[in-house]
Amino acid sequence: MKTIYLIKYAEIGVKGKNRYVFEDALVKQIRFALKGIEWEFEVKRAQGRIYIDAKEGMDADTDEEVRGALKTVFGIAGFCPVVSVEDEGFDKLADAVVSYMKETYPEGEHTFKVFARRARKDYPMESPEICMELGGRILDECPNLKVNVREPEIELNVEVRESIFIYSEVIPGLGGMPIGSGGKAMLLLSGGIDSPVAGYMIAKRGVSLEAVYFHAPPYTSERAKQKVVDLAKKICIYTGPIRLHVINFTDIQMAIYEKCPHDELTIIMRRYMMRIAETLAKQNECLGLVTGESIGQVASQTMQSLAATNEVCQLPVYRPLIAFDKQDIVDISEKIDTYETSILPYEDCCTIFVAKHPVTRPVVDVIRRHEENLTEVIDDLVEKALAEDDVIYVRPGR
Ligand code: ATP
Ligand code: MG
Repeated sequence: MKTIYLIKYAEIGVKGKNRYVFEDALVKQIRFALKGIEWEFEVKRAQGRIYIDAKEGMDADTDEEVRGALKTVFGIAGFCPVVSVEDEGFDKLADAVVSYMKETYPEGEHTFKVFARRARKDYPMESPEICMELGGRILDECPNLKVNVREPEIELNVEVRESIFIYSEVIPGLGGMPIGSGGKAMLLLSGGIDSPVAGYMIAKRGVSLEAVYFHAPPYTSERAKQKVVDLAKKICIYTGPIRLHVINFTDIQMAIYEKCPHDELTIIMRRYMMRIAETLAKQNECLGLVTGESIGQVASQTMQSLAATNEVCQLPVYRPLIAFDKQDIVDISEKIDTYETSILPYEDCCTIFVAKHPVTRPVVDVIRRHEENLTEVIDDLVEKALAEDDVIYVRPGR
């Protein structure tokens, strides 16, 4: 007897010819998710399904770990832990089914129905007979279980293949699309609550991530940078490994501070962040930028401010949280376990240079004119910042 996990995929089932691309991406991400677990698994595809085959003798703790890992994989609609037994005659099968039901539903009153399928036609009994016989045995031996053929709580599946599969639980997965099936994007990752959630959300649609963090030493500390690395570590459980570009933004920020009106600092700074992020995106085959912006959340996220930051980009800027309330974002950050890290009180590069009364309705032409004050220095500063790009390869840490 051994455990197999039968993976039910989300939308990827309906993708026609592209289906293989999606299945490959899903298999790859499942392998990635299982990597940290000390047990040998085989992830395979057969008859349009994906299975994880765990060798004989896996214990309950490892089973829990596998379940947890599968709940981090986008593209899985649900998964079924399957008990696989060798075909050693019907009596042995019935014994296995009864002990499966006893173990899985030890208490409480439940209704069930047996669904039998013969993938192997040389099996000596036909499906209806298998259902009848197994149903009878369960009724005899599990007093807490009753049959209900119309609306059973428990759908017990028995599939006769080379070995026989027994399963009834469908554990919900995250849904979405497998990572990498949707191309790659550059996430502007700060130490705040929003941008890690934005990264998670876009990755849920199958987009893999690179990230960029604008660091302003000594105004922002090493701890602030480490916090961003830690956030990347948290989300890469879902998104796969992330190449994190750390860009030293201090000189650019100082130049803006010296030469531009203070109420426009944040907007101008945001425009340079977007420009640099776009350059990095293009250098690294990213098809768009991703930010954690949400309309009206702060002065730099009014419709006018968003238009002003957007204006410097040619690549699409994806803002998965654009219409989310803060509390909804917080709820997701708690679910993906980034919240506690995000609220650590290390200064972020924007808070130091914020004006008391930042513009909330910037006019693009005016902003552009003020940016001209930077003409003499800015190209060199941007070039230098890009040349000193410090890339950190982030994978799930233990
Ligand atoms: P967050 O919680 O994601 O920091 P926020 O509400 O603090 O967002 P802003 O500081 O205005 O909002 O930033 C808006 C977006 O710009 C962020 O969601 C992030 O995508 C990007 N961003 C801001 N600061 C940085 C930074 N230092 N490095 C990289 N990206 C940044
Ligand atoms: Mg922020």
